[in-house]
Amino acid sequence: MGAEKGDWLYSMGLGEAQRTAGQEIKPTHNLISTASVGPVNRGRLLQALYDMGPSSRADLARFTGVSRGTIGGIVQPLLEQRILVEGEVVPPNQAGGKPATKLWFSKDAKPICAVLLMHDSVRTCLVSLDGEIYAQNSAAFSNELNDPVAAFKVISGCVERTITSVDLPILGIGLAIAGMINTETGSILAINLASFFNGFPIGAELRKTFDVPVCVDQDARALLVGDRWFGKGRGRKNFAVVYTGEVLGVALYLDGHLYRGAAGAGGEIGHTIVQLDGRACKCGRRGCWETIATLGWLRDEARERGLPQPSSMNSRRLIVLADQRVAGAAELLQEYVYNLSVGLANLQQLMAPNYIILHGDIAHGGDRMIELIEQNFRRLILNRPGDEVSLALGDTEDVAALRGAAGLVLSELLNFPL
Ligand SMILES: [Zn+2]
Repeated sequence: MGAEKGDWLYSMGLGEAQRTAGQEIKPTHNLISTASVGPVNRGRLLQALYDMGPSSRADLARFTGVSRGTIGGIVQPLLEQRILVEGEVVPPNQAGGKPATKLWFSKDAKPICAVLLMHDSVRTCLVSLDGEIYAQNSAAFSNELNDPVAAFKVISGCVERTITSVDLPILGIGLAIAGMINTETGSILAINLASFFNGFPIGAELRKTFDVPVCVDQDARALLVGDRWFGKGRGRKNFAVVYTGEVLGVALYLDGHLYRGAAGAGGEIGHTIVQLDGRACKCGRRGCWETIATLGWLRDEARERGLPQPSSMNSRRLIVLADQRVAGAAELLQEYVYNLSVGLANLQQLMAPNYIILHGDIAHGGDRMIELIEQNFRRLILNRPGDEVSLALGDTEDVAALRGAAGLVLSELLNFPL
C-alpha cells in the first residue's frame, strides 16, 4: 500500500489548468512520451480533460505540450474501453483541416460507488466519471447498535442496494469517514459518538465483500478531492478546504499535492489552541478552536443569551434572526463569525493556501456569511503586497462529500490499468 500511496499522491498533482483571459491555454505539465509511463500519461490526460471540460485532441495536445499523435495513442484505448466518447463536432478551422470532435467521459463508463460514513448513519450513491450522482441510498444505525460487525452489515447492505440498482459493474468504492482514519491501512482509528468502530478495518472488509478497489479517507480530505476533481479547486495548485459545523476539519492541497500528514494524521485544525486556559474541549485539552467555533458553542451561547430555539441554531438561522433585529442575534453572529475567522486566519498564516473553500455550516449561511467572515479574516491576516487571498463557498449539499469519496477512487485508479 505504501508504494501505491506514493503514486496516488503523484496522480493528484497533475494537470494544472491555466487559462488566460483570452482562453489561451498554456502547457503547464508536459507529458512523458515513453511507452513505459502509459498509466501516468493517461492520468495526466484525464486530469487535463477534467480541468478543461470537453476538449478536442488538438486542445489536449496544446494543453499538455505533446503532439496530437501522442494524444491519439492515449485516447484510443480509453475510447475502446468506453471511458471516453467522442461528442460534439468542432467545425474545421479556416485553413481547412479535418473536423474534430470533443472528447468527454462516456455515460456508459463504469461508475464509482461513494460511501459517506457518519457516527449515526451511512449514505451511498453511484458517481459517474463526469461527477453525476445517482442511485442514492441511506441507512441509520439504531441507538442500540454497539458492535462494528452489525454496523458493517448496515453499511454493506446500503452499498449492495446502490450497486445492484444499475446493470454496470463498478470501478471501485470510495469511502469518506467523519472521524480519525489510518489512511495507510484503511482502518478507523476513532469516530466520535461511535467508539465501537475504533480499530475496525473497514477498507479491507469492503474489499473482501465486494471484490473491488476501496479507498478510505477522512471526510474533509474527501471534500478536497471532490473540489479538486469536480468543484472550485479544479486546476488549482494550492488551496485548502475547511469544514465547519459540529466539528472543524481542514484538508490541504499544497504545491499540487494532497497533504495528509503521516498516515493521515494531519488536518486536526479543530484542536489547535486559540485560547490559553479557554473552555474544556472534548479532546481533554483547553481552548481548542472547536471550543469557540462549532455549532456546539453557537447553540450553548444562543441558549445562554435567550435566543429562540437555541438547539437548532446555525449560521443561516442566526442571519435571519439578526436581520429581524431579534435581541442579541447580531452580537452573537458577530462573535461566531470572528471566532471562525480566527482559525481560518491561523491556517492562512501558517500554510498560505491563498484560496480556502468553505463547506458545512458556513456554506449553509451562504454569501452573507462568507462576506462577514471575509471582513474579519482580512483584518486578521498579514497583508503581503501582491498576494491574492480569497475565500470561496463550497457546495452546500451533502453530495459534495460523496462526490469527493468517488474522487478518491478516481485519483487512485488513474495510475493503474482500468
Ligand atoms: Zn480539542
